[in-house]
Amino acid sequence: MAEGKIVRVSGPLVIAEGMREANMFDVVHVGSERLIGEIIEIHGDRASIQVYEETAGLGRGDMVESTGSPLSVELGPGIMTNIYDGIQRPLIEMRDSVGSNIIRGVEIPALNREKIWRFEALAQAGDRVSAGDIYGTVRESEVVTHKIMVPPNVSGVITEIESGEYRITDPVGKLQDDAGAVTDISLMQKWPVRRARPYSEKLPPNEPLVTGQRLIDAIFPIAKGGTACIPGPFGSGKTVVQHQLAKWSDADIVVYVGCGERGNEMTDVLIEFPKLKDPKSGKSLMERTVLIANTSNMPVAAREASIYTGITIAEYYRDMGYSVAVIADSTSRWAEALREMSGRLEEMPGEEGYPAYLTSRLAQFYERAGMVICSGSDKRIGAISAIGAVSPQGGDLSEPVTQATLRIVKVFWSLDAALAYRRHFPAINWLSSYSLYKERLGPWFSENVAKDWQAKTEEIMRLLSLESELEEIVRLVGMDALSAEDRLVLEASRSIREDYIQQDALEPADSYTPYHKQYALMTLVLSYYTKSKKAIESGADIEKIVVLPVRERIGRAKTVPENECIKIYAEIESEMDAQLDALTVGAEGGSL
Ligand code: ADP
Repeated sequence: MAEGKIVRVSGPLVIAEGMREANMFDVVHVGSERLIGEIIEIHGDRASIQVYEETAGLGRGDMVESTGSPLSVELGPGIMTNIYDGIQRPLIEMRDSVGSNIIRGVEIPALNREKIWRFEALAQAGDRVSAGDIYGTVRESEVVTHKIMVPPNVSGVITEIESGEYRITDPVGKLQDDAGAVTDISLMQKWPVRRARPYSEKLPPNEPLVTGQRLIDAIFPIAKGGTACIPGPFGSGKTVVQHQLAKWSDADIVVYVGCGERGNEMTDVLIEFPKLKDPKSGKSLMERTVLIANTSNMPVAAREASIYTGITIAEYYRDMGYSVAVIADSTSRWAEALREMSGRLEEMPGEEGYPAYLTSRLAQFYERAGMVICSGSDKRIGAISAIGAVSPQGGDLSEPVTQATLRIVKVFWSLDAALAYRRHFPAINWLSSYSLYKERLGPWFSENVAKDWQAKTEEIMRLLSLESELEEIVRLVGMDALSAEDRLVLEASRSIREDYIQQDALEPADSYTPYHKQYALMTLVLSYYTKSKKAIESGADIEKIVVLPVRERIGRAKTVPENECIKIYAEIESEMDAQLDALTVGAEGGSL
């Protein structure tokens, strides 16, 4: 194992000599406090080390010792409900053992070594297994069954295995590999964070991630295994959107990576998340969540590690056959950390000082999302959907991190401060957002929800973009210049915005809308347009259509209970028919 001496310290960057034996990305201990760092560059016997703890007090001549292995995470029962820092140190246990001001160089294992778990063996002695095969389960939390899998690159015959009560490192059995060597199998494995975990095959993203958020599901859907980006001007509802996705999307597991800038941003997450209730189980959302949070006294470099730690944990649960949602907030902060480190390494800067490899680093993260056939002989399917927030300075979407991200991700939910100011929530701007999955997911929706789902959602978008054109005309020449048909387009669009798109996260009856109700609701809202259009053609007065009494009922339609929506919407439709008929009868009467 390489041992060297510090020659230079520059913030989180330490340069050490005598490191010829060390490898790129080895974890090293730095100084007498044994701070944790990672080698990010080697030239001859000089290693550049990114240190994940405050480096004050380190100096020339201090010792650096390589551990000989790359930054890895521990994978096994005990991850769910936990809160980790960027290098997977358990924050709560750390606080309990050393107090709330994290002392440097603390080494507490990521997974509790004392806790006893009930292991149910699924394999038997004599079974031939290979990488990814599940040999048992542990009930990890109230809602998560943890599958204990043969680690990647391992195969052989199980020679012993027994259900029982075990600690995480206890052997639960033995495995004889093809060369005849016998090793213990346990409840835990390790994996280097910078390497994607293997799977058998990547699948095309043909199935939506259900979110229950009407604008997202209908207009800007994300596929299961897809990637999305959400910018967050302050107060525009980014946190609420993230919480809604964590709570309602049909992901079994949530991995939330917080690379907040200020300590208090992270404190919010640490306080808020555990308070969230999982609507599906009625328990705390933490029962199926792991939080990865950089504490304020860790240097920015740790943000880099936290992104990798998060996605690796996500891959591990994906490998069990779960649908995992990774929410990273925010990747801009991570990019800033890359920029800082790149500056200290005196690399050639790219745009706005970001390193030239910014895009490839971002891509490496998002590429680890996807729906896959997992390793293992049962061919189970798992998925990681990755949602990254970006926080561009001053909301400027043309800056490099946002632009690089937009080139990679397939969905962009453009949060808009002006909409939030008007209290239109979710404040996702329907004109500047997009989803490149929309078309791909069409067949799924027509097969599983309704044949004309796609046609209806396109009609919604058509009306909304017409609305924005007409508004421009109104601004120039006033409302009087519009024909009755155009007036109707404005009214119908208003109804789409207010009665379909606006969704109150805080109102239980509105917070989540299942697909069948979304379809029924968009049908109702669009009916107002098509039926009124016919009525106008038969001579009805647009002024009366605008104030049709039934509109009030359409406005309240989104909060009707989902099991009654079909019946109630049918009633509203007949009311609408009657009221429109009355208008045209009057019109025809008048013209006679
Ligand atoms: P950000 O994280 O972008 O600063 P928040 O997510 O905290 O903003 O949202 C700010 C406020 O906006 C919330 O406290 C809430 O009152 C309101 N809000 C945001 N989204 C919604 C929503 N979907 N439904 C209802 N209120 C919302």
